[in-house]
Amino acid sequence: MDLWYSEFHTKNVKLSIKVSSELLSEQSRYQHIAVFDSPEFGRFLTLDGVMMLTEKDEFIYHEMITHVPMSVNPDIKIVLVIGAGDGGVLRELSKYKTIEKIDLVEIDERVIEVCKQYLPQTACGFSNPAANVIIGDGIKFLRNKENEYDLIIVDSTDPSGPGEVLFSKEFYGNCYNALTEHGIMVNQHESPFYANDADAMIRAHKKISKTFEVSKVYQAHIPTYPSGHWLFGFASKGLHPTRDIKEEYWNRLNIDTKYYTTKLHKGSFCLPKYVEEMLKENE
Ligand code: SAM
Repeated sequence: MDLWYSEFHTKNVKLSIKVSSELLSEQSRYQHIAVFDSPEFGRFLTLDGVMMLTEKDEFIYHEMITHVPMSVNPDIKIVLVIGAGDGGVLRELSKYKTIEKIDLVEIDERVIEVCKQYLPQTACGFSNPAANVIIGDGIKFLRNKENEYDLIIVDSTDPSGPGEVLFSKEFYGNCYNALTEHGIMVNQHESPFYANDADAMIRAHKKISKTFEVSKVYQAHIPTYPSGHWLFGFASKGLHPTRDIKEEYWNRLNIDTKYYTTKLHKGSFCLPKYVEEMLKENE
């Protein structure tokens, strides 16, 4: 008998992945957590029935959410990561010897434990000696923080359940206050393609562009996310993602990547016309 993982991307479209075994299925205090093995995508993690990462394509997401801001400001030393309980962002940040401290705030301790047990490919990031893991809600953690972080990476779930607050005006305002003068906030910005995802993306963009002096959007192709077309947000108090990229500096670091290059970085901010229009109408 064949076993398949199916996820509705709209009420008329679903993604199905053939599964060789279900390794874990449990309800934590915050969400349903499941881990599967599959012949095509390797091991994968879902939260509340939504794909978080697969061994085969997680490098795209984690490289794009990390190396884009890191190549714009080489002076990033103190980093805050919100969510990201799989460890993938920590793994990518480990490639920079210049980073002195990383606070990672994840609401669900069980996600971290499960990833350490089943997903060493990303959870290896937790061995980063600069990492300080805090179990708590990102929005509460950020209240009253001022001028502390050079970079905030928001690696959240979608805007429902515990992740909803991470798409609020209050949260973006708190991020702004917590950032230093040359600070950058990068967030997973949903998809422009299907109506529900596009609504979430537009709502987030409206709030971010009202909060930050610079608010740009870039794209990547992530096969297991709805429509495969995924966006990230780049917001800052002044640094521009393509004008201020330190291309030569970053290339001299010789960082090992599979997806990210500085050439791709610049191209990833060139968006399809319909996406540009959606964004422009909502700034
Ligand atoms: N890195 C993954 C990927 O490749 O898409 C995605 C997401 S990561 C597993 C998202 C994490 O955000 C989850 O572990 C979830 O528990 C966490 N999270 C959701 N809401 C949160 C909140 N309010 N504060 C902190 N962490 C939160």
